[in-house]
Amino acid sequence: MVLITCYGGVGEVGGNKVLLEDGDTRLFFDFGYPFKKRAKYFQELLNPRPGAGLLDLLEMELLPPIKGIYRDDLAGEKLWQKFSASPNYRKLTVDGVLLTHAHTDHSGYISFLRDDIPIYTTIMTAFISKAMQDSTPPNFEREVCYSMPKGTKRGYLRSEGTYRPRPFAFLDCPALSDEAQDFWYSSPSRKRALSTEPYLCMPEKIGGLKLRSFPVDHSIPGAAAFAVQTSLGWVGYTGDLRFHGRASYQTERFVEEMQELHPHVLLCEGTRLKDKRGASEEEVIENCLRATREAKGLVIADFGARNVERLTTFYNIARQTQRKLVIMGKDAYLLDAMHLASDKVPSLGYATDVLIYKDFKSRLASWEAEIHKRYNDKLISPSYVRENAKDIILCFSFWDALDLIDIAPPKGGTYIYSSSEVFDEEGATDMRRLANWIDHFGLKGIGLPREELNWGIREDEKGYHSSGHACGTDLLDLIRRINPKILIPIHTEDPGYFVQNLKGTGIEVRVPIEGQTIMFS
Ligand SMILES: [Zn+2]
Repeated sequence: MVLITCYGGVGEVGGNKVLLEDGDTRLFFDFGYPFKKRAKYFQELLNPRPGAGLLDLLEMELLPPIKGIYRDDLAGEKLWQKFSASPNYRKLTVDGVLLTHAHTDHSGYISFLRDDIPIYTTIMTAFISKAMQDSTPPNFEREVCYSMPKGTKRGYLRSEGTYRPRPFAFLDCPALSDEAQDFWYSSPSRKRALSTEPYLCMPEKIGGLKLRSFPVDHSIPGAAAFAVQTSLGWVGYTGDLRFHGRASYQTERFVEEMQELHPHVLLCEGTRLKDKRGASEEEVIENCLRATREAKGLVIADFGARNVERLTTFYNIARQTQRKLVIMGKDAYLLDAMHLASDKVPSLGYATDVLIYKDFKSRLASWEAEIHKRYNDKLISPSYVRENAKDIILCFSFWDALDLIDIAPPKGGTYIYSSSEVFDEEGATDMRRLANWIDHFGLKGIGLPREELNWGIREDEKGYHSSGHACGTDLLDLIRRINPKILIPIHTEDPGYFVQNLKGTGIEVRVPIEGQTIMFS
């Protein structure tokens, strides 16, 4: 018998945690951070307490009550006495997590898993995850690649000892250069290596089950879909994907290869079902290039954090418009990590037209100090940006707004919003604030979701962003072509869309209920 239980990503975009069980083998597809569910209870200054271990997260049902999968230092016997009566309580061990990509709604809550559970993923996803963790302040909800163990002191948990690495197995099993190994094994304090164990490569099987992975196109490099061969046939999992990005041929190939496996079950994402296909990356390039050509002063490009595809887009636009691209230290750190993962990502050292913004900070974290040392000749100050405003594209986001005070940009600059739409109340609040900052500095905003349009974008300002997700009709086409016996919609607020639109195709749609096991025999 094959069992599938969705512990997240149910009625929600992201937070995926899908448990697959067959015989003695158990594994998770992703183990993500549930943004929406978390925001029901928590906000900026009200967060789960690291000192309480997993108590707050289990109580608010942000994590499934499964004994045996979490770090012992965060979840002791006392905690399980409290949660062993929960309806979904279980006790089990797992053989691994198949991680599709480095967005935290898929990877974030790996932080809480036992640190002997292997994470199977591409080297690109692993390296992006490490760069992201290295360059954010310590946070127990973001310990994907390594974790700080905790010990008890007067009933309260405190950090104790040194960072412990999580075993990652790289699907693409490359031979890592010395530099890449240095990066992968360096602890954030740089004092000592995280591990001296050799890195792992993908085995043929996990537990008793054969595994296949497929590169797919999404808004972050390194994204993969998976298929696992169970006793009932193949079970496929799309992760997040699309057909309209630069690497859409990868998604096409995934569909073709998956089709040949004749899967019994397919778990498929459904992020933007009702939308039209939307702008392609090519259209985004065209629109952003035009806006940059028309701009008189400073151009600020705001694209989602870690949207490396968009970063490349603006790099090319900068070259075509004879501007310099100014990036933040964390972007430089990320690009270096990506270059170590794949030499298809160009080396920053050779990109003479890229500069690094040196912000106003009294103390640098060690990753940042390293970047400043490595690229000393690329560092520029806020006043450099002000004085050379018309020759610069500045890669900024709302979270860098304070730096605008230091730059004091000349009036009449352009702020291109090339990022995702507003999904929720929190996003709306941020967008209101961003609009105020843009106004305050006399910038011209383009492509912003506007409150008076119910957070829609003005007709003449559409096409400055391309989504990371396929639209509904593209997904229906994918499902029909792969033709699984059973479809499980996941990562969607509207599973009914699939029920309705797959009627008469012979594909049975099983809408998951969080924490409830679906049995296949
Ligand atoms: Zn996602």
